[in-house]
Amino acid sequence: NGERSSIGDGDSILPLPESNDRKWSDTNVYARKKVLQFWVQLPNGNWELGKIMSTSGEESVIVVTEGKVLKVKSETLVPANPDILDGVDDLMQLSYLNEPAVLYNLEYRYNQDMIYTKAGPVLVAVNPFKEVPLYGNRNIEAYRKRSNESPHVYAIADTAIREMIRDEVNQSIIISGESGAGKTETAKIAMQYLAALGGGSGIEYEILKTNPILEAFGNAKTLRNDNSSRFGKLIEIHFSETGKISGAQIQTFLLEKSRVVQCTEGERSYHIFYQLCAGASPTLREKLNLTSAKQYNYLKQSNCYSINGVDDAERFHAVKEALDIVHVSKEDQENVFAMLAAVLWLGNVSFTIIDNENHVEPEPDESLSTVAKLIGCNINELKLALSKRNMRVNNDTIVQKLTLSQAIDARDALAKSIYACLFDWLVEQINKSLAVGKRRTGRSISILDIYGFESFNKNSFEQFCINYANERLQQHFNRHLFKLEQEEYIQDGIDWTRVDFEDNQECLSLFEKKPLGLLSLLDEESTFPNGTDLTLANKLKQHLNDNSCFRGDRGKAFTVAHYAGEVTYETTGFLEKNRDLLHSDSIQLLSSCSCHLPQAFASSMLIYSEKPLVGPLHKAGGADSQRLSVATKFKGQLFQLMQRLGNTTPHFIRCIKPNNVQSAGLYEQGLVLQQLRCCGVLEVVRISRSGFPTRMFHHKFARRYGFLLLENIAAKDPLSVSVAILHQFNILPEMYQVGYTKLFFRTGQIGVLEDTRNRT
Ligand code: ATP
Ligand code: MG
Repeated sequence: NGERSSIGDGDSILPLPESNDRKWSDTNVYARKKVLQFWVQLPNGNWELGKIMSTSGEESVIVVTEGKVLKVKSETLVPANPDILDGVDDLMQLSYLNEPAVLYNLEYRYNQDMIYTKAGPVLVAVNPFKEVPLYGNRNIEAYRKRSNESPHVYAIADTAIREMIRDEVNQSIIISGESGAGKTETAKIAMQYLAALGGGSGIEYEILKTNPILEAFGNAKTLRNDNSSRFGKLIEIHFSETGKISGAQIQTFLLEKSRVVQCTEGERSYHIFYQLCAGASPTLREKLNLTSAKQYNYLKQSNCYSINGVDDAERFHAVKEALDIVHVSKEDQENVFAMLAAVLWLGNVSFTIIDNENHVEPEPDESLSTVAKLIGCNINELKLALSKRNMRVNNDTIVQKLTLSQAIDARDALAKSIYACLFDWLVEQINKSLAVGKRRTGRSISILDIYGFESFNKNSFEQFCINYANERLQQHFNRHLFKLEQEEYIQDGIDWTRVDFEDNQECLSLFEKKPLGLLSLLDEESTFPNGTDLTLANKLKQHLNDNSCFRGDRGKAFTVAHYAGEVTYETTGFLEKNRDLLHSDSIQLLSSCSCHLPQAFASSMLIYSEKPLVGPLHKAGGADSQRLSVATKFKGQLFQLMQRLGNTTPHFIRCIKPNNVQSAGLYEQGLVLQQLRCCGVLEVVRISRSGFPTRMFHHKFARRYGFLLLENIAAKDPLSVSVAILHQFNILPEMYQVGYTKLFFRTGQIGVLEDTRNRT
């Protein structure tokens, strides 16, 4: 429902808000004049500014830069804004709000290192891919004092603190964007500001130090970003009643654990592996039997060991220091490094065929013995766990020998589980350290840094989950900015021509409906021992073809129409990734270990197995230790997240990546445009601008400005007082609306009243 109204067509000219505000009237004069310049779209898709030389029939002759002359259809010309509007800091101020105008405005600012621009209530941040002189204490101070009011993450963080204190409502800063767009950097910039303003107790220092730790263990070099977060993160920063930071809590989402055992050419596994190999002291190397990164299969396969401009050894020391600061003991740190080395050595375990049925056993070499030593288990038990599988069929246990590919799967599953558990364990330790103010009395600001919408040539289970999360967040965004807005107008009975916006409820239902939705069907198929990726694909096609957001494709593929575009998913690997089984033999192995970390990992896995998936799998199937499916667990986390965010005042930051090669000064229009469309930035501006963003209750308005009235009508009701004020100050009728309980104003209208009030 709700057709997307076109602003992208370029020819839509919005009515200019009338105002006695100087800025508006200036632009108004220009807009009333004939448009002097137009945007012309070149064959390569880029827009260029041009002037009309002549028009005949339906065609115009246009001069663009460097005297080049083009003949184009007049109707394809898009009006350009007058020069005085070049680089306005809020897109709301543009007279012509079309795509080229927005693109040009962002580019104009970007070229002057003004990477932040407001789009109504949303902050747009264009990644500079270089150091820009916008940060640090001097700038923080300027935003705190409000002596600098240009758009900035600092300004957003400042508003969040103020609103938290003023309204006594928790706040959230929701950061989104594609991989490499700058979400994680933006989150850190916001944290810096909060730490500077709410600091004092020292806990803020600990909070900042969680970043290098989580990045070492959860980020990796990908083809898109040298420091790509492979997990989602919500950090909730707690404040005391006096506005001081009292503690924090981190929640992480869906770590990409397949990267531990498998990684594309040119990418890397998690930073910490390379850091450990490069930075460990001779004593530690000996203890862990550590060699160089090039000797480990898991790291070797992608043929990429270093990152330009990054010294892994140096980073390793920084991580150790950060671990000290969040109170992870030296002993535990060594245990953590032992687990990392164990994972690396596991990847080097090889197998030999022992019979003519292709059954295998691990080679009893240095790798195997080192793994056993590092996790503290008996080498024979490790051997068994990697070559045999106990299965319960009815009430009997039978032992199945593993073939080469099964054994490799078992080995990799163990490596992935150890790493994922290690990551969770670290987050838990950090949270213990940050939970200083045990009795939470105050308020909080949460910062969400979560993977943006992904659409690749090949999309798998990971993209499926990530894009589902983005649908949820998009709905939150829509609801907040559009729906609530409109509902408020309607509730208060003001004249408001409904502006339709894209609602993605239908797509969300496609995912969430029970029992016939993508997630339910996926879980159902995951519990069937005979389920395969193909039976899954067929089942989806059979049941979901009615949903307009779904299309079954040939073979094992299906397509979902997401709010940000269509994505075709290959079901290959879906079931296995969703089941994410670790065989009971491996869990048992970990629980038998003499080291405390593997034991802790085993018990955390057993907690999940208390809530088995319903279905026949654990009776007849391949594995008898069942956990919640990955998709179900993720959905639960998302629901919890949305509930938490639902109780906050949100502040949105949309990060934009100006090029795909991570270089400074390169602004690719097409790429930027596609991202602006994806995240609904243009629509937000349009709606905010055509609406009445400032609002105040009658009584509050009357109380605040009533004393400015020349005639005494103090005895009258708030509404009459309000109306009298509006008349006295000559606020034009089209600039406001009187609702049942509130007054609604267009942008910039309260300014005159505030000025007068402050002078009096
Ligand atoms: P992913 O989804 O892959 O985690 P991301 O959106 O978190 O990506 P970042 O890691 O924050 O992206 O940014 C990528 C790189 O862009 C950074 O490593 C940094 O080099 C550069 N960058 C981002 N924001 C800024 C900034 N404000 N100033 C300078 N450089 C920046
Ligand atoms: Mg990131």
